[in-house]
This record gives sequence, C-alpha cells and structure tokens, in this order.
Amino acid sequence: MTQTMLSELTTAAVGGPAGTFVEARTEAEIIDAVRSADAAGEKLLIIGGGSNLLISDAGYPGTVLKIASQGFTVNSEDSCGGVSVVVQAGHNWDALVEHSVLHAWSGLEALSGIPGATGGAPVQNVGAYGADVSQTIAAVRTWDRERNAVQTFTNSELKFGYRDSILKQTTIQGSPRYVVLTVEFQLALGRMSAPIRYAELARSLGVEAGKRAYSNDVRREVLRLRASKGMVLDASDRDTYSTGSFFTNPIVPAAAAASLPEGAPQYPAGSDGLVKLSAAWLIDQAGFAKGFGLDPASVSGGRASLSTKHTLAITNRGEARAEDMVAIAREVRRGVVERFGIELHPEPLLIGLAL
Ligand SMILES: Cc1cc2nc3c(=O)[nH]c(=O)nc-3n(C[C@H](O)[C@H](O)[C@H](O)COP(=O)(O)OP(=O)(O)OC[C@H]3O[C@@H](n4cnc5c(N)ncnc54)[C@H](O)[C@@H]3O)c2cc1C
Repeated sequence: MTQTMLSELTTAAVGGPAGTFVEARTEAEIIDAVRSADAAGEKLLIIGGGSNLLISDAGYPGTVLKIASQGFTVNSEDSCGGVSVVVQAGHNWDALVEHSVLHAWSGLEALSGIPGATGGAPVQNVGAYGADVSQTIAAVRTWDRERNAVQTFTNSELKFGYRDSILKQTTIQGSPRYVVLTVEFQLALGRMSAPIRYAELARSLGVEAGKRAYSNDVRREVLRLRASKGMVLDASDRDTYSTGSFFTNPIVPAAAAASLPEGAPQYPAGSDGLVKLSAAWLIDQAGFAKGFGLDPASVSGGRASLSTKHTLAITNRGEARAEDMVAIAREVRRGVVERFGIELHPEPLLIGLAL
C-alpha cells in the first residue's frame, strides 16, 4: 500500500506520511469518515487546501481527512435581499470569489487569490486588503464531533475576531471539534465592490479609501498586488511555497506600542485601547530582510527562507523539511523579541511541531 505524503497536500510542500488517508467528496462521506475515526478513538486531522498547515516530517499518525466536497447552491437572489449562496466546504475558495465577481455578487472581491477551500475560510476568519469573511458569512453548518450531531452557527455565534473564530478555538486533541460542512454567504447584488478599506488597494484603484470600485477591477488589482508579494499560488515561483503570512500581526496594549520607534505602523484594535502592529515591519526592522535564510550557512541550510518578496512568509526553496521552516520562524521570533520585546505568534496550525 502506498502512503500518502502530506507534503503533497500542503502549499508549503512539507510534511511526512499520513497514518490513514481518506478523501470525502460529499457531506455524507465527511460525516461518515469523522464518525468512524472518532468511534475508533483515532486522532483526526482535517485538511482542506492545506494552505494554513505546517506538518512535521514525521507525518500524522492518525486519520487525515481531506475535505473534497464541491459546488454551491443559490438559495435566493433578488434585488432586495441580495444573494444567499451555500457553498460546500471543499469548494476552492478563489473559484467561488471569481464566480461571485463574474455574476455581480458583491462582497468577496477583496479576498481574491487566497488559497484553500471554502470550509477553511471561517476557521481563521480569512482576511486581506481590509476585508474578511466575517463581513459576508451568514451561517456555517458543521458536524459537532462531541455531540455527534449537525450544528449550525449564525454569524454572531461564530465569535469572529482577527484571524479567529469559535471553530479555531474549539478543538479535540488539537483537531477541530466542529467540522465545517457548508458555509452560507449573504452578498449584495451589483457590479460595485464593498467599500475599499485598505489604503494601498484604494491607491492602486485610484479611488479614495472608503469608496467603491468595480468588483472586477478590485479583483484584478488584488491579484496583481498579491502576486507581487508572492501571495498567489504559482508552481513556478518558490516564494509561494508557504503558508502565507507565518505570523499574525501582534495586538498589544497601547503602552507597549508607545515604546516602539517612530514610524512603526499601528492601528486601533477594538475598544479597550489595544493596538495592532505590523508583524512584517517588526521583522524587517529587527534585521530580517526579504530572503533571510537563503544563505546555505543559515539556520535552515538555505533550504527555507523568508520570501524574497515579503518578510512575513516562510518559504520552502525546494528541499526544505518542516524543521527548516521552523528554524527560520524561531530565529525571526527570537530576533523580534530581542529588538522590540514583542512576541510573534504563528498563524498556521503547527502539527507535531513547536516554535
Ligand atoms: C500563498 C498564501 C497566501 C495566503 N494569503 C492569506 C490571506 O491573505 N489571508 C488569510 O487569512 N490567509 C491567507 N493564507 C492562509 C490560508 O490560505 C487560509 O487560512 C485558508 O483559508 C486556509 O484554508 P485551507 O482550506 O487551505 O485550510 P487548511 O490549511 O487545510 O486547514 C487550516 C485549518 O483549518 C482547519 N480546517 C480546514 N478545513 C476545515 C473544515 N472543513 N472544517 C473544520 N476545520 C477545517 C484545519 O484542520 C486547520 O486547522 C494564505 C496562504 C498561502 C499559502
């Protein structure tokens, strides 16, 4: 029997063998596979597009379940209520965004080019260019592994935060308690985008921040900006063999932010005086330039490095092991603590690995 290598199922292209590998193409198959693994007391790893996972070279000793359900259903579409669309968890995220823009469903356009499957999107409330999925998700239907029953969450029940949700917070032995089956989006009808909240995107579209643009222009510009940063998957570009941003932007008390040098980007984060910092800026200013690690004499032996286009992505240059990626992450995290006293936290889920 051939073993499935998790390096083939992850965008970072690292990860050893799966104990047992199952691919589920329908909701019924997903529930069946989860129930069987749980009934057998097996560890369970849920994988969508594998774009936010860093898995150890030792692999995963339990069941690895690839969510491969496809398609979506339009529940309603009218000029008053907009569009309600229910998407299968395994449906490719960017294919959904592309469809939405082509069919004048407004609200997802700024999230163009994010890899992965739709079921993964609510888990960490994916976001980019001033948008995140909490703005358009109406409900998420899940399989609750603890109660052995279907559980549907409304938007407010999902407790969305910055790269966070109840789905990410609630785990059984490190794996999701709630397995996402479908995601329902509520989108406006029309060719105009949602208001552009991100200054760099507004500039490149030639509109004022807070104004709208044509959604297809927004998609085109977002894809262009993302590609220039290595943030759109491209098999021929080693800068895209990553988990995207490796660290989240730290959220710190105002006093900690005040001690940073002038020019450090800072954004208000919530009502209790917290401030969001730029992890990319901290990394760069701590002395880790784009491409850090490429030198064969570096901690990763040159096999893993910061992207040559962006300091926030840790990339596999071709033959990296998971430990090489982690070595870069440790070095960067240590340097940022040493320089600024601020601890960075990883965005991807680490399996069998620790920083
Ligand atoms: C080049 C690149 C660019 C990126 N850019 C961005 C970005 O701009 N913004 C952003 O937010 N993220 C970004 N990411 C990260 C990633 O693409 C997103 O987090 C994406 O939503 C992950 O989806 P996935 O299907 O690949 O999840 P996976 O990596 O397969 O899984 C991630 C986590 O979600 C869980 N999960 C997956 N599917 C389900 C399910 N059906 N039910 C329950 N749990 C599930 C997994 O168990 C795991 O804990 C980027 C990644 C890459 C490689």
